[in-house]
Amino acid sequence: MDGIIVAKFGGSSLADGKQMSKVKNIVMSDNRRRYIVPSAPGKRNSKDHKITDLLYMCHQLASHGLNFDEVYNIIRGRFLGICEDLELEIDMGEILDGIEEDIRSGASQDYCASRGEYLNAIILSEYLGFEFIDAKELIMFDIRDKLDFKGTEDRIRDRLKDVPNAVIPGFYGIKPDGSIRTFSRGGSDITGSIIANGVGSILYENWTDVSGFLMADPNIVKNSKPIEIITYKELRELSYMGAPVLHEEAIFPVRSSGIPINIKNTNHPEDSGTMIVDDLSSISHAGSITGIAGRKGFTTITIEKTLMGGEKGFIRKVISVFEANDISIEHIPSGIDSISVIVANSEINSKLEKIKKEIHIYCNPDNIVCHPDMALIAVVGRGMIKTKGISAKVFTALAKAGVNIRMISQGSSELNIIIGIEDDDFERAIAAIYGAFE
Ligand code: ASP
Repeated sequence: MDGIIVAKFGGSSLADGKQMSKVKNIVMSDNRRRYIVPSAPGKRNSKDHKITDLLYMCHQLASHGLNFDEVYNIIRGRFLGICEDLELEIDMGEILDGIEEDIRSGASQDYCASRGEYLNAIILSEYLGFEFIDAKELIMFDIRDKLDFKGTEDRIRDRLKDVPNAVIPGFYGIKPDGSIRTFSRGGSDITGSIIANGVGSILYENWTDVSGFLMADPNIVKNSKPIEIITYKELRELSYMGAPVLHEEAIFPVRSSGIPINIKNTNHPEDSGTMIVDDLSSISHAGSITGIAGRKGFTTITIEKTLMGGEKGFIRKVISVFEANDISIEHIPSGIDSISVIVANSEINSKLEKIKKEIHIYCNPDNIVCHPDMALIAVVGRGMIKTKGISAKVFTALAKAGVNIRMISQGSSELNIIIGIEDDDFERAIAAIYGAFE
């Protein structure tokens, strides 16, 4: 199956007939785009509703025995409107009636939510003249609700082997008992990646409404430069810190086979977008950074104890207090006689006093100091590996901008520098770092 491209289109790319016609032009302009994975219709404008949200709402109302006609009629109107715009002769009314009946008779939440992708794939397959293949024939979950990667791979290979073109709904698959299971929100990205891996495609295109990733948040840095190339690993570092354009689990299926992902803009298909490539590919921007991301709302708990380094098991004891309280840790920078534990405020919320008490009991420290309202910034890039002067540039820029640095941590892979600052300095710090590499 040489030269196949799998293309996934997001909700805004399929929100109405006009967007669908752009999708058709894109698909038809390259006959390697053989397998298409759609999301459910998204918002047409900021006040509009996502079909998936409405479907969750219908399920919620129905499960409380409440009338969901009004919400379902909005869904009905959207799908009938798309079919009308595209002049398709599908009996959408009948299919919609069937789903309404399923919801009324107690269909599961996952089944209800998945119908947006299901219906959109039927429409798109008719419009493109491609075969419709239900995701429940291909994407399999095991009894623990985990993706059955191997079983899914086999099914995709067998089922698609003689199918030249198909539209496969995103977001869901089937469980061993035959019921529908969805991925987490935004999960059509994962379906596309699984299909791309299963058919051995040369490229996984992810079509959305932005021309790829930007080096920094455009709300902070106006006219931020786009990221042309980024590796899977760099992207992991950035998306863990900022708002992801791509579902964070979507890179794993293609990563194992080294298939690149191209983030593209349905409204500007001529833009090259961002290419996400194998970690081993050559570095194109040595001496510079790939991107900057960050988040506010962290707390640092610093535990001081003289001669801490000589006491075996001290760090383990500290960490186990957090573990026992079900708090996940972001970073643990340490000094000679102190160790700091950084956690998200949302994790620690009302548990802080309890944690401090337990650290006193189990670790017998000299002192515990807490700093709330900290922001973390990740400066990411393979270009900094074995390159002198990158961190000097970052810290000079921060000093010039008058930003006080509370913590610095660099992973030993030299892929990122994590900087802890006051929440209030967040925007200024990102703008300053960006400016240093412009
Ligand atoms: N429609 C689903 C959602 O809104 C899945 C997706 O769009 O990827 O989360």
